[in-house]
Amino acid sequence: MKNKFRLLILIIFFMSLFLSTCGVQKSTTLKNYEGRVYYEIFVRSFNDSDGDGIGDLKGVTQKLDYLKDLGVQGLWLMPICASPSYHGYDVSDYYSINSDYGTMEDLQNLIKEAHKIGINVTMDLVLNHTSTQNKWFIDAATDANSKYRNYYIWSDETTDVNSKSSMGTIQWYLKNGFYYNAVFWDQMPDLNYDNAEVRVEAKKIAKFYLDKGIDGFRLDAAMHIYNADDNKNVAWWTEFNSYVKSLNKNATIVGEVWANTDTITKYIGALDSTFDFPLANEIVKGEQTGSFAMLSLFLDSIYTTYVDKNILGQDSPFITNHDQNRAMNYFEDMGQAKQAAAILLSLPGTPYIYYGEEIGMKGSGKDEYKREPMLWSSDASKNTSWEADLENDADITSVSVEEKDKNSLLSFYKKMISIRNNNDALKYGSYVAFATENDSIFSIKRELNGKSTYVYVSSADSEQVENLDIASAKIIYSSAGRKGKIKAKAGQITLKPNEILVIVK
Ligand code: CA
Repeated sequence: MKNKFRLLILIIFFMSLFLSTCGVQKSTTLKNYEGRVYYEIFVRSFNDSDGDGIGDLKGVTQKLDYLKDLGVQGLWLMPICASPSYHGYDVSDYYSINSDYGTMEDLQNLIKEAHKIGINVTMDLVLNHTSTQNKWFIDAATDANSKYRNYYIWSDETTDVNSKSSMGTIQWYLKNGFYYNAVFWDQMPDLNYDNAEVRVEAKKIAKFYLDKGIDGFRLDAAMHIYNADDNKNVAWWTEFNSYVKSLNKNATIVGEVWANTDTITKYIGALDSTFDFPLANEIVKGEQTGSFAMLSLFLDSIYTTYVDKNILGQDSPFITNHDQNRAMNYFEDMGQAKQAAAILLSLPGTPYIYYGEEIGMKGSGKDEYKREPMLWSSDASKNTSWEADLENDADITSVSVEEKDKNSLLSFYKKMISIRNNNDALKYGSYVAFATENDSIFSIKRELNGKSTYVYVSSADSEQVENLDIASAKIIYSSAGRKGKIKAKAGQITLKPNEILVIVK
């Protein structure tokens, strides 16, 4: 009896050891994030609920059915706090919703309705700087003895006010006899994170929105808090993130670290995830050139780093975002857009789609053009009208038109997202390099618990051969209309011209 008891204790001990080892493979905080497809929304351009031509939060709520149908499981709302600018990246009051977008109640209702259908809602948090119209700054600038004076960074006799920022921008601006620091724009004075009171304010803002039910934050300009000082930035975000987790262990923090892979990886851990800007660049270049050699090499290189650091699932890939020319401006046709989508949706981590990307909207040049009204309908009265539609043709590129066409980009996005949502290897699997050196083919293998999924994308106008390391596989999707099984001959399969192929073992 005693021996049996010992044996039981031993088994429990080893089981718990085994489980805890499994546990450290991935941050548990990512349960609410990894593998999902997220969707970035510029609220002003998305959907107008009250007929004033400006998108609003109720308008987003009205389109939850569309987002669910698309297969999206998470939203990133671009800035929704009170702001004097059209874009909102200069906050005048962190505790109010932009009156163009609605009320706090509208936000809470959006969160409630999204949660009912399994969609997370995260929001942009712009903490590096405020608007010059923020009462903190107005007070600080008019009264050198203000309690808010030290919330910002002011010149003293040692400051070279002609010095440029680490980004090469003008960074000192004169106000009432003193210079304040603002590295992005004179209307965006930088907050002083050496001041402990500012750090307390930042946490207070996060708590405020977590209490409203928000699932996490996208951190704007995460590497600029302490200009170009990664160590201090990482220390601050570690402090911030652990505070957020103390309030909600499932809340997620994803940061904008617009830098190379070395720098990005420094921030993962402090942040739950970061956007993969270098990867986005390689996806676009691969499609533009029709050669995936560099993309494949790049994936091998970054994923080796991510696996070594145990952060593979914490990547947030995307194609382009609101600060960049739209993906469709780089592509020749919808075919290339479909291929880029297939690549994006086959990658580890949490892929982001920028609103309108799924219908092939264009936009380039000044920022407003990259953020045009979402084209719901060829009937212009059904879209937001805050800005005149300049680059897109709603008769071709709109939801109402593409929904009726099973070969449209929108239909393809739905198909690929649905494949990902129903395939755990694509959502959570490891990355296995297995490709040949055929530059015209992108291929990726994702593996989980002995199950493998392969995604092939061919940019060639002729048939091509590519490796398959198993004898045969089941076809999940073929843009060439193939069904059933595919068999390897001498370890290779033949791809049809320009084929997108998804197969599983
Ligand atoms: Ca409106």
